[in-house]
Amino acid sequence: MQPAPEWKSSEETVAVIGSSSWDQFLILDRFPRPGVGAVVTACAEAGGGTAANVAVALARLGVRPLLVTTVGDDAWGQRLVSELSREQLELHLVPPRAQSSTDHCTILVSPEPERTILWSPGARLRLGDPLPLERVFQCRVVVIDVEDEDLRQFLLDLPAHVAPRTRIVGPLTHLATLPVERARRLAIQHDVLIGNEDEACAVTGCTSVDAALEALRRWMPLGATRLVAISRGRDGCILATIRGTVRVPAFEVRAIDPTGAGDAFAAGIVYGLLRRLPLSELGRLANAMGALATRALGARAALPTRDELEAFLSGVSHVHR
Ligand code: ADP
Repeated sequence: MQPAPEWKSSEETVAVIGSSSWDQFLILDRFPRPGVGAVVTACAEAGGGTAANVAVALARLGVRPLLVTTVGDDAWGQRLVSELSREQLELHLVPPRAQSSTDHCTILVSPEPERTILWSPGARLRLGDPLPLERVFQCRVVVIDVEDEDLRQFLLDLPAHVAPRTRIVGPLTHLATLPVERARRLAIQHDVLIGNEDEACAVTGCTSVDAALEALRRWMPLGATRLVAISRGRDGCILATIRGTVRVPAFEVRAIDPTGAGDAFAAGIVYGLLRRLPLSELGRLANAMGALATRALGARAALPTRDELEAFLSGVSHVHR
């Protein structure tokens, strides 16, 4: 594989805008059924949040992204900021509102492994927050992962005026919670859409991933979208363009915790696009990122460096496989 370009530290290539959360993990001996319960075999906690996870994954790969996020006015917020400031990224913190709490997730990790997220919503970016828009839209790629629909619409409308060459990447997580027609109108304003099978089905209102894929491909000529990447856990991923689809199988790893695999996969797509990889290599790289992320408890603990990723992809890694 071609060596990745050496990004100068002053050169921000990617901006990621969205959430940070504090994650607490409970490792269970089984998934709790009503009235039966489960035994907690271990606990852990660490920084998370989809946008922050994508930014950290890119940072470990040497991209040095700009992360625009917010945290609450509390101890979890301070711990998040202290974790993020140890990563090779540019952190732009939108000041928390007084007495706002940090977004918080309790994550149940049951055998398989499978994860179930209990979300306590906290501080999030909203329309009207002071954002460093000029800096963001100087980047070649902007990942928009905000929950606030009005803020997303505002951010999607800007590049057409101020930065027509900026590519907009949209994780489907928050779009998947909107009514289909609204989701469609927002989705097609992104150049690249990334999500898992459930999200692809929810966004399109379809019941199977193949039907969702066809719907997403039909949307492409209606807007800006040129690539859709759907992750499928242990089944790898499907990448779709207007010309066709490519299915790429997953890597075999000893998975401990799948939390954050989708965020690592999204970072892999962004990283592969920066390197202008052909479609099948792009899927392979993103699958590798997702697989590597599952090797340890927490969304970020096992995110690879660029050398680890290269070693894994060339099959000479010492990673458990
Ligand atoms: P999400 O976390 O959004 O549900 P997925 O579970 O689809 O996302 O995982 C993202 C990617 O990570 C998958 O496409 C796959 O390549 C990789 N991945 C996830 N779980 C595993 C696993 N158990 N074994 C190998 N690869 C995995």
